[in-house]
This record gives sequence, C-alpha cells and structure tokens, in this order.
Amino acid sequence: SQPGACGVVFDNWFARDFPELCQPVQLQPVSAPHLVVLNEAVAQLLGADVEQLRRRDGVAVLAGNAVPEGSSPVAQAYSGHQFGGFSPLLGDGRAVLLGEVVDAAGTHWDLQLKGSGRTPFARRGDGRAALGPMLREYLMGEAMHALGVPTTRMLAVVATGEPVMRQVPLPGAVLSRVAASHVRIGTFQFAAQLAASQGDTGVLQRLADHVIGRHHPDARDAATPYRHLLASVIDTQASLVAQWMAIGFIHGVLNTDNVTISGETIDYGPCAFMDRFDPATVFSSIDDGGRYAYGNQPSITQWNLTRLAEAMLPLLAPTTDEAVEVATDMLNAFPARYDHHWTRRMQAKLGYDPDQPLADPDVVDDVTAVMRAGGVDHTSFFRSLSAAARGDSTALFALFDDTTQLEGWLTRWQAQLPVHGSDAGAVAAAMDAVNPVYIPRNHLVEDALDHAVNGDLAVFERLLTVVADPFTERPGLDDYAQPAPADFGPFRTFCGT
Ligand code: AMP
Ligand code: MG
Repeated sequence: SQPGACGVVFDNWFARDFPELCQPVQLQPVSAPHLVVLNEAVAQLLGADVEQLRRRDGVAVLAGNAVPEGSSPVAQAYSGHQFGGFSPLLGDGRAVLLGEVVDAAGTHWDLQLKGSGRTPFARRGDGRAALGPMLREYLMGEAMHALGVPTTRMLAVVATGEPVMRQVPLPGAVLSRVAASHVRIGTFQFAAQLAASQGDTGVLQRLADHVIGRHHPDARDAATPYRHLLASVIDTQASLVAQWMAIGFIHGVLNTDNVTISGETIDYGPCAFMDRFDPATVFSSIDDGGRYAYGNQPSITQWNLTRLAEAMLPLLAPTTDEAVEVATDMLNAFPARYDHHWTRRMQAKLGYDPDQPLADPDVVDDVTAVMRAGGVDHTSFFRSLSAAARGDSTALFALFDDTTQLEGWLTRWQAQLPVHGSDAGAVAAAMDAVNPVYIPRNHLVEDALDHAVNGDLAVFERLLTVVADPFTERPGLDDYAQPAPADFGPFRTFCGT
C-alpha cells in the first residue's frame, strides 16, 4: 500500500479476500461538506495527519467526496435476524468500507463511512443519514470507550449541506467510524448461505480464518480452531454484555447484523442508558415487545450466538449431528460464562476484589433486587455506595423512599468489605474507578443534539468532554450527574434511519 490521503495507509484486505462478500461502491459526493466534529485521538491512532484531515482535502475524504489514495470502497454483504425474523440479504445499504487502515504497529483498522449514499444493498433506502443520529452514535460510542467497554470508535462527523427526507427534512451527515472489523454474526450467516448454495464450505472457512487472525488468534494453534473460535466469540460476547449490564447500557437493536465477531459494541441507534433500575426498561420506539429490554440482553445474546453456531456448523464436525452436539455444549456454557464476567464486574463495583469468591455471594445478586425495589437511579446508586464506604450514607439513603431492604443489604455488604476504618478511602476510590459519575444521560443527550442540529455545537462539545472522563468527579458538573428532571417524561429513542 502507498501513503493515502492525510498520511493514512490503506489496505483492502476484506475486499481483496472476499469479493463474494462485498460489492464495489461508487461514492456519491455531497454539495457542501463541513466538518462538525473530529476525534484527534482516533486520527492519531490511525496515523493520520490531523491538520490535513481538517483541511478541504481531508474533509472531502470524510464526506465521501474523494476516494483516498489506496482505498477501494466496498459495501459489505450480510444477513441478519431482525427482531427474530431472518433477512437473507441486508448488507451495508448506506455505509462503505474505505478499507483497512494499517497503523505503525501493523494493526488493521476498518475505516467506514456511514450515510455516504446508496450502495448495491440500499434497497428502498436513500443511503443517507441525518446529523442528529450520527452525532448520537459519535457521543455514545466515545462515552462507551471512555467507560472501558469494547466499541467501534468514531473519527468524525461531517455535515453534508444537503437535507435528508424523513418525516420532516433533516440536515444530512456522514459519520466515519473505526472498528477492529465490521464482520458480524450476519456476515457468517450470509457466508453460510453462500456455502450451502455452492455445496462448498470454502468461503465460510476463509471467513473463519480471517477473523481468527484478526480477533481470536489463540484459535489458530488450537487442535480444533473453528470450535475454539466459536467458544472464543461466545466468551467475548458474554464479557461484552456483562459490561453493558454493569453500567446500565441498553443497545436497543440486538439483531444478529448488529453483533460483531470481534466483541466490539456496534451500531448505536436507539441505545440509551437506563436511569431507574428496572430490567424491563426499553427506550426504542420500534421495540414494543421489549425483545431487547435491559434485562433480556444476556439471553438475547445467547440466542444470537446460537444463530452464529448454526452458520458455523459445517466447520465444527464432519457430520451435522456431531456439530450440533458440539455447538449445543458450547452454547449451554454461555450462562456460566456470563455469570463469571458479571460477578467479577459487580464485585468490583461493590468494592470487592473481583477475583476472590465471597463468603456470602448472594450479596451481589441481591443488590439488583434492592435497586429494583427502590426504583433507584442505576448510576447514582453505585456512586452513593462509595460515599457510604467513606462513612457518609446520606446520599444513598436519599435515593430510597423505603430503606428497610437497603439497611439489611448494607449490613451484609459492609461485613464483607476487605478493609475497614481508616482504609475505607482506598475501597471507595477503587469503587469510584469502576462506577461512573458521568454517563450520557438521556435528557442531556437530547438537549445537546437539539442544540447541535440548530447550529449550536457548544452543548454537544461540553457533554462530550464530560463523558470522555466519566470516573473523575469535577467541580461545576453537578448537573451532569443528576437524573432527568421529573418533567423530562418517558423517554423514547428512534433508529434515525
Ligand atoms: P441499522 O438499523 O442501521 O443497523 O440498519 C439495518 C439495515 O438497513 C442495514 O442493512 C442498513 O444498511 C439498512 N439501512 C438503514 N438505513 C438505510 C438508508 N437510509 N438507506 C439504505 N439502507 C439503509
Ligand atoms: Mg446495523
């Protein structure tokens, strides 16, 4: 590869190795591209020249108006179970993979534009995206990264200067994002169909080899690499969803086309953070049945992984019966893997050593019952608990109308804390390092986006700065740590397509 635009070096690994899993795309220029936000940290990660990216030529690349040197843009094909129903052909309808950026260490990062125009998979869609939802994805994704959750990263949002027609005309935008790869469960489902129709598992095997090399290298040296790969994806997803649960994150559209093989969170549409603790919480306007409610995320992840296992069956054993048996055993292990990761996260949140089994382990499960009964704000609860560890439980008690359950639980919690008295500060500090004080709260996000689409970016930029450092309490930011005011009302999120 040669140096491309803005110092970035492109490979076209996926396009070269998987012509049957993608389609070349002719980019469609927009009339008046204008840089709205650029992530300098991500630009540096890619080895890009930040100053060049900000200039006209750079913005043209970020808008899809110019193909950077070395890039062969493609739209990736994939299938997907959407709300339980199978769509054999989805694919990138409004996104293009510019290629993989090779950084100084030789690591490949997918660079994708979203909202850059129609592709061969666009069906009836316009291929475009609105500014509000693209800024939302940028903000949520970067907040998740700061919270330590594996996620795609956001490079930039460029306004197109053109309206997109939704219920009302909205300002258009292109988001550029960076991922370990965009290979999804749906990519395997698409490859499996292709393999079945060709009577040849070749493409499936090559896809598995590709993701082993990029995301699950331990599988390469295993006695049965593809079984190892499946087990590794199952464990990575169990870990990911445990992290979401620990911070109260609701993805909102956990279709199999929105679940990565790498274990990164992807496709921030109607996602949101839960405020009042309630497993039935749903924000998405298109999820009436609550399929993707907060509390359903672990079981729906297991369901999605079952779809992955089905797609991989031909790679797992010579006969289908044997493959099903192998896959079933692995999938049955999911609840235990999830429990392992969730317990570790929760023990850390409660001030315990994540690696030491507790004498009274039920204190972990029971905390959710206490939070639920109290209807308390998820984020505030854990932060007030560290204050209680320091000896001041005023804020904690103030969260509850009825403190009977809390008091019983607190006694059991305190009895198991590793240190007492003068060392309590160290426990509280360890809790504060894993329990955020600032998350992108729904009312703050809505306010920031309202201002941004009306041309005032200051509120968005300030919120971005706050959530980019979620664990350190800072003076003057009290409003960012508070639950929504009562008049904010029931919150709904929309896909923004
Ligand atoms: P999403 O809900 O964003 O994960 O998208 C689901 C599917 O719909 C994917 O195949 C997208 O590429 C496609 N899609 C969503 N919005 C559009 C659009 N405006 N134009 C074309 N395709 C779209
Ligand atoms: Mg998607």
